[in-house]
Amino acid sequence: MDRFSQSIDAYKEAINLMPGGVNSPVRAFKSVGMDPIFMESGKGATIKDIDGNEYIDYVLSWGPLILGHADERVVGQLHDVIERGTSFGAPTLLENKLAQLVIDRVPSIEMVRMVNSGTEATMSALRLARGYTGRDLILKFEGSYHGHGDSLLIKAGSGVATLGLPDSPGVPKTIAQNTITVAYNDQEGVRTAFEKFGDNIAAVIAEPVCGNMGVVPPINNFLRFLREITEEHGSLLIFDEVMTGFRVGYHSAQGHFDVTPDLTCLGKVIGGGLPVGAYGGKREIMEQVAPAGPIYQAGTLSGNPLAMTAGYETLNALTEDSYVEMNKKVDLLVEGYRKAADEYHIPLQINRAGSMVGIFFAEEPVVSFATASSSNLEHFNQYYRTMIEEGIFLPPSQFEGLFLSTAHTEEHIEKTIQAARKAFSKLK
Ligand code: PMP
Repeated sequence: MDRFSQSIDAYKEAINLMPGGVNSPVRAFKSVGMDPIFMESGKGATIKDIDGNEYIDYVLSWGPLILGHADERVVGQLHDVIERGTSFGAPTLLENKLAQLVIDRVPSIEMVRMVNSGTEATMSALRLARGYTGRDLILKFEGSYHGHGDSLLIKAGSGVATLGLPDSPGVPKTIAQNTITVAYNDQEGVRTAFEKFGDNIAAVIAEPVCGNMGVVPPINNFLRFLREITEEHGSLLIFDEVMTGFRVGYHSAQGHFDVTPDLTCLGKVIGGGLPVGAYGGKREIMEQVAPAGPIYQAGTLSGNPLAMTAGYETLNALTEDSYVEMNKKVDLLVEGYRKAADEYHIPLQINRAGSMVGIFFAEEPVVSFATASSSNLEHFNQYYRTMIEEGIFLPPSQFEGLFLSTAHTEEHIEKTIQAARKAFSKLK
């Protein structure tokens, strides 16, 4: 383990300083039985750790870096903006610029409010949905992650369409009971929930493509079904596009699937690697947010000039063609993995949506949390370690998707497929 000696020392130090040595749990590499790798720098599609090991990066800071690391357009503008100060606590033109771009590009968004993270975006959208409808209940899907807000850190109760249970100590039961949990892609479950609770469901919140149980796209027009049933019952439809926004397509997942929600939550790509989240939607609903309306939400650093700049430059650099190009690279990656899996007789399911890819060591198609959970975690962990040895940095969990950037080249993909072949050959 010499090649990680600096990371090992850094972790020993960190573990006394921060809970688990990290500032966000997934960075601890626990589910693959490894210690964290401390990173030093990144350029384009590659990232370097503090021991000097270099990797092709498919984590991309968990999604934001769609142009790859340290893109010159983003970094160049950040230099210019930082010279003028880092935060003013008063409006800037940069906020108008990013807001206009988001409104132009995301079909459901007529007005937008910037916040600092995806968690803030979803928490704020729920408050808005509850305040706007005057209802308390929220319907979410099993295996979806919407940040760590109390109402959303909820696991399913037993049985179909029951009220939820806290997924963490510290989430009050009384709050969990306001969240109904249903299996993703389960239209019958959603119908049952509306039959039982319909008149008090403020909103259905859904990832239009799930990215937090691996990648699980909607099937059988699930999103259209959600649009129709929420309309029938006077509930709002919220798409949590924190992961899928500007990633699944130029107009985000809602453009790709042609289903328009009432509210949309954004994060990750919208900040281009700086802390940004946003929620937006129909003007009539957004005008209920303070100070235009009575529903309170605020933020000292919201709309921060550096964050707005990184977001704007990132989104501005993306064209419809960028997505066509990224899709072609995903085609190559998926084809390579399929061939390698066939060659070594490894049961593998691959789900994809734009430049999000879910590779499951599973026998059956993965359409829900239950089917994702049937994956062979022993295989995943062995594969993961070989990939790290081969210089491929993947999200350290079977239940996370991998991301491509515009900076990934065919050579990067080819090298990744060769590494996967090696990993699969060792699984035999
Ligand atoms: N929603 C989704 C769909 C996410 O994937 C995440 C983060 N992975 C969040 C919300 C929370 O975002 P953040 O970590 O920025 O708070």
